[in-house]
Amino acid sequence: MPIALRTLDDGAWISVNDSRQVSVSDVWTLSRGVFCNCEPAYVLLEGFLDVRVDGSIVFAKTVGQCLECGERASIDRLPVGRIVDGAFKPYDPEAVQSVLEPGD
Ligand SMILES: [Zn+2]
Repeated sequence: MPIALRTLDDGAWISVNDSRQVSVSDVWTLSRGVFCNCEPAYVLLEGFLDVRVDGSIVFAKTVGQCLECGERASIDRLPVGRIVDGAFKPYDPEAVQSVLEPGD
């Protein structure tokens, strides 16, 4: 069964199969300096612009701001969860995300 992914409420939520799953109000911990020079960076998201699945990983396109240095930038591929046996398993926003791919 295909997974239905979309953003709701002007990007405040990611919906998976018509269920609100990921809130924009979480602070995401990002490693490796891909967002700014802070390691890790604590990034408050402003809204989800797009969401898609690539393989079993669900990626969001989003905009966020670092709580420490104030850097504001877009993130093309923020991994927010994965699909396991047809069900969405969200990642923990507080866990350091090391699976961000370098932007181009
Ligand atoms: Zn920063």
